[in-house]
Amino acid sequence: MSRPKVIELKEAPKVRVLGQFRCTGEGNMTQFKSAPCGSLLEITSDTVYKTTHHSLDFSIEHFSTFMCPVCGYETDFPLPADVHMYQLPLKKDYLNKVVSS
Ligand SMILES: [Zn+2]
Repeated sequence: MSRPKVIELKEAPKVRVLGQFRCTGEGNMTQFKSAPCGSLLEITSDTVYKTTHHSLDFSIEHFSTFMCPVCGYETDFPLPADVHMYQLPLKKDYLNKVVSS
């Protein structure tokens, strides 16, 4: 069976590889009693979200974060220079998406 070749998929989510990062729990070490597993993960643009930290001086900092599929730890990691924090979904939106897909 032949089907038309897709030249450009409309509104296709542009998923790209952001890099390989290790599960270290960086920036998020307090949520579990056991240690992060240390797995090396390929992080793509659809597997990250931003977390928000409120500082004592009331400033708000955003961090790009992924959740390890093995141990569930969250790890903060540096975004490539051409990916902006505002492009990342909030954690709650990311989790909603993961649950519904
Ligand atoms: Zn892990």
